[in-house]
Amino acid sequence: MTFRATILTLYPEMFPGPLGAALAGRALREGRWSCDPVNIRDFTEDRHRTVDDTPAGGGAGMVLRADIVGRAVDAHADGRPLIALTPRGAPLTQRRVRDLAAGPGAVLLCGRFEGFDERLFEAREIEQLSIGDYILSGGEMAALVLLDACVRLIPGVMGAASSGDEESFESGLLEYPHYTRPVEWEGRTIPEVLRSGDHARIAAWRQSQAEIDTRLRRPDLWERHEGARVGSPSGARHGSKD
Ligand code: SAH
Repeated sequence: MTFRATILTLYPEMFPGPLGAALAGRALREGRWSCDPVNIRDFTEDRHRTVDDTPAGGGAGMVLRADIVGRAVDAHADGRPLIALTPRGAPLTQRRVRDLAAGPGAVLLCGRFEGFDERLFEAREIEQLSIGDYILSGGEMAALVLLDACVRLIPGVMGAASSGDEESFESGLLEYPHYTRPVEWEGRTIPEVLRSGDHARIAAWRQSQAEIDTRLRRPDLWERHEGARVGSPSGARHGSKD
């Protein structure tokens, strides 16, 4: 099964963009996923191909029209998750990425200007996702981020089948720090434990580093991780690692 991505956008030329290179690009050429940008302007009916209008109630900028975007959405809704990229959405998580990557793909809706007419979200089943608490100029970069995160998890895309499992967030923690040769650089050596060959000690060191770094850098993650561990046994995502 291939992962099919349809992207509704005013800038179809932005796709696959950077996803045409490296890991995702090779997977695209191998047919492991498909990338079909669709121009929302193709769903206009006037001579000027207008997609937006001024905000009701006044204020700066323009708003994407529900009727135009609605037609674009309806023309591509086929049971795949329908997702709008918006700073008003739920934060995108690795868990959501993993679920999406295991499915048939997604139809992604990219905003521009001030965003979408809200009635769109009342009238259609559209999941709203944000890639972080900052404002982009459009949803295209957010769609690229979402797709990059999904594509690397499609079976056969990453080298080792297991290489996605130990990353940051998969266990609810940041990942432990990495080192590689040279053993000494500018007077700094690789931590002795990593050169010991003692796999149990290495695993314990990595676990404790992951916990220390998460506690210091991401108190929000740490709190959730601790809550899940202390709370209910089912709250922990990977029981064996917690
Ligand atoms: N006026 C809106 C921001 C519009 S930015 C607000 O304050 O909420 C224009 C478009 O960029 C949005 O419609 C959305 O598609 C995209 N965008 C901006 N920031 C984003 C983010 N953090 N995550 C996902 N999409 C984002």
